[in-house]
Amino acid sequence: MSANDNDSSSQDFATLAVRAGQLRSEFGEHSEALYLTSSFVFRSAEEAAERFRNPESGNVYTRFTNPTVNMFQQRLAALEGSECCLATGSGMAAILATVMGLLKAGDEIVSSKRVFGSVLPLFNQIMARFGVTTRWVLSADPTAWQAAVSPKTRLLFVETPSNPTLQIYDIAALSAIAKKAGAWLAVDNCVCSPALQRPIEFSADLVIHSATKFLDGQGRVLGGAICGKRELLMDGGIYNFIRTAGPVLSPFNAWVLLKGLETLAIRMAAHSAHAARIAVWLADQKGVTRVFYPGLTGHAKHDLAMKQQSGSGAPLVAFELAGGRDAAFRFINATRTVSITGNMGDAKTTIIHPATTTHGRLAQAERDEVGVTEGLIRLSIGLESPADVEADLARGFKAL
Ligand SMILES: *Cc1c(COP(=O)(O)O)cnc(C)c1O
Repeated sequence: MSANDNDSSSQDFATLAVRAGQLRSEFGEHSEALYLTSSFVFRSAEEAAERFRNPESGNVYTRFTNPTVNMFQQRLAALEGSECCLATGSGMAAILATVMGLLKAGDEIVSSKRVFGSVLPLFNQIMARFGVTTRWVLSADPTAWQAAVSPKTRLLFVETPSNPTLQIYDIAALSAIAKKAGAWLAVDNCVCSPALQRPIEFSADLVIHSATKFLDGQGRVLGGAICGKRELLMDGGIYNFIRTAGPVLSPFNAWVLLKGLETLAIRMAAHSAHAARIAVWLADQKGVTRVFYPGLTGHAKHDLAMKQQSGSGAPLVAFELAGGRDAAFRFINATRTVSITGNMGDAKTTIIHPATTTHGRLAQAERDEVGVTEGLIRLSIGLESPADVEADLARGFKAL
């Protein structure tokens, strides 16, 4: 097996998304091969001994390395502009591997409170049992983050833009705070994908993905990834945690994700353009009290969003209806085309009422804090004709 001849170093994003990281076997397959195998055969006892002694010398077992998973890791690393990437079985496994790999009892995390719903119990309940405590920051103002840092802080964790209310955090400012504190900054980049935002360009140490979302792009498989410096991932404890504890990405899912990455650039351009159009349309509708979309010039963090993201930004749009939960349910129930589902980052537009679903495990006071109100509806804009999505959403407005 050998890497193909492609010279990745100077190529554009769209080219890297199609070609970076491909390994080709002696059969010369054009599409990436799916190595659906748990272990690898050695030519001799000596070779087996050498592989076990030095895992970089070749494949041993798919919990350690697998060529299809490697191709996905190399391609995503090229897209994020990172030295290295490690894949995991889901986005939550990537977050778990990061904290289990890097932190120890007594360390503290400073985390945004506007993060994916499962991050709160992971840090508050599970990591707390191992002596890792978390200070939660609600504000996007860097001075609030600075105030939360203590001598025990080892990791700053942020999701930007945040889901579902699309708050924007200043990656470069948080990175400076982390550096000064001797901590790492991890950015969950799942809402934008590297097609729209590359946190390493703003000095983030780690970029975390739920590959389940836009990287797959068609709602098929779960996957996750951590991108960053080789030293931090390979020697810092994250790789050791993954290969020992086993939250690995399946080769089949890696293969599906490789195919997903090939279309990432054109998909994200279309998702983003459709979202921009639908956000403007929503802002004009009766019964809408607020539209959450950083691509709109009226958004409080519009300038920062446009500095950090390309195009018109992430394809999530949230909006608030005056009539609270009752109006939100009537609206959602009147739609026919868009899918009522909690997932996002799909070719199919999805609609959900966060307060009773994705954020339903939070207490009312916590939901109020992060802006998940009873009238809030979240859309993940897909690849259908935006006119047809608007026509479907118009059914919702008619039902109010
Ligand atoms: C979905 C999601 C996750 C978790 O990913 P899974 O693949 O479902 O484990 C983490 N962060 C964000 C922003 C997400 O949307």
